Amino acid sequence: MNHSAALSEQLLQFSPDALIVVDFHGVIRFANETTRSLLGYAPGALVGQSIDLLLPARLRARHAHYVAQYQRAPVGREMGARSADLVARRADGSEFPAGIRLAPFDWEGRSYVAAAIRDMTDRRAVNEALIVARAEAERANRAKSRFLATASHDLRQPMHTIRMLNASMQKLASDPGGLRDLLRSQEQAIDGASRLLDALLDVSRLESGAITPQIEEVNLEAIFAELRREFAAPASVKSLALDLPRSEVALATDRLLLSQLLQNLLGNAVKYTERGAVRLGESVDAEGLQLVVEDTGIGIPADKLERIFDEYYQVDHDGRPREGVGLGLAIVREVARLLGYEVSVQSTPGHGTKVTVRIPRERVLRQAAPIARTPGPSGNAAPIAGRLLLLEDNPSVRAATELFLSLEGYRTLSAGSIDEALKHGPQLAPGDVLLADYRLGGSETGLDALHRLRAMLGWEIPAVLLSGDIDSVLRVTKEPIGHCRFLSKPVDTRALTAAIAELGAGAQSSDGTATAVR
Ligand code: ADP
Repeated sequence: MNHSAALSEQLLQFSPDALIVVDFHGVIRFANETTRSLLGYAPGALVGQSIDLLLPARLRARHAHYVAQYQRAPVGREMGARSADLVARRADGSEFPAGIRLAPFDWEGRSYVAAAIRDMTDRRAVNEALIVARAEAERANRAKSRFLATASHDLRQPMHTIRMLNASMQKLASDPGGLRDLLRSQEQAIDGASRLLDALLDVSRLESGAITPQIEEVNLEAIFAELRREFAAPASVKSLALDLPRSEVALATDRLLLSQLLQNLLGNAVKYTERGAVRLGESVDAEGLQLVVEDTGIGIPADKLERIFDEYYQVDHDGRPREGVGLGLAIVREVARLLGYEVSVQSTPGHGTKVTVRIPRERVLRQAAPIARTPGPSGNAAPIAGRLLLLEDNPSVRAATELFLSLEGYRTLSAGSIDEALKHGPQLAPGDVLLADYRLGGSETGLDALHRLRAMLGWEIPAVLLSGDIDSVLRVTKEPIGHCRFLSKPVDTRALTAAIAELGAGAQSSDGTATAVR
């Protein structure tokens, strides 16, 4: 035997797998040395024996069936990597989980099958651990979804009550000093907790893949108008010029997600700017649309730019107290990922920051006609002439809301269910407004209440609907609903009174007739 043939022989005999060759009748014709350590048989003791010898007695009948099947269509294949029931039997009767690789071949006019046998104990243990880990991850994911659902409703509900009570106490506090200051501090704490709750829920929802963008045609001006309204007050408190152009662009996008992205960028621009201006610019070129949020604020050091999109990362701006929780840009990152936008930041410390959002050309649909919009009232709105029908199934939220509304000067009718609300129907007249919680007991919603009430009244009573999960609600209510505003819980009480005033006044249109269809 030459050197290489001798080496091949050694490899065959001492391969890491036990190798055997079986003939067409299931008789072992060859076994290598490894069968000794793996199966406990000397090779010579196996040759001439039935392959059944290597199987536990209980599996022999089934094995005969497999062999017959295999002989009809012999192909190379692997067995036992996953299935736990492929077991081999050692000479001493003990068993081990086996992985077997089969290779059919013909030699001198006869058919044979070569089998490589391997002990799979470790691999199966790893597989089993993986299966357990996967089940655990799926369980954790389900728990996270449940937490999200619970947090978005059950946690916002008490927050909403606390906010209502705080607004009422501020109204009631007669001494201009101590108590009012305390209540204002409390209000700030409530604002902080609400923002954190919103940001946490937004990030988890975006990351968990629970959100699929709902692409529709969106006039940018509709979003810009909302942003102008939202940021007018915070910018004027700091005497910042707020510059949002009137837009004529229409995009194929998800309206809520794009608003959320711009809200976070503008929110940061206002937050991190003490003097000067905050600007939102737009330009269309061959590449697509660029939206640029620019400020003249404190800026971000170059070595921190990489990290600002990470969750909870906040730049230490020289002892400046931290505002926010470090999730705003993580939300921007996730929204941009979902919508296929590119976001980049340029910043000069001490001079300002510029964030550019690039939206691909094919998403820009056209130059849309700007939407005429009357800016909503800001600050404290005067109560409407009509009454409010309050529909809220939770008694403590209802009581807190009634108290707040009566202190604001509204005349209120209260209901805990749709049926109770309908009972007030005969007393309602144009100029009245429905204020309803979106999620009522059972499967009923404030929207069901609105439709039933409108059907019963025969005219379109305006409505404000409150929801802890406004995004989901807006996703299910595809059709725009006339004279209806959705507000998020815990509600900003100023936004609430402004919405009621706008709708109550709108119901009495300029020629004195109500928009009612009697
Ligand atoms: P935060 O809630 O802290 O604002 P973000 O994720 O929105 O969290 O932003 C991360 C960090 O990036 C902020 O803490 C801030 O230091 C920095 N940053 C973001 N936008 C601006 C900006 N326009 N000007 C200066 N710094 C900014």
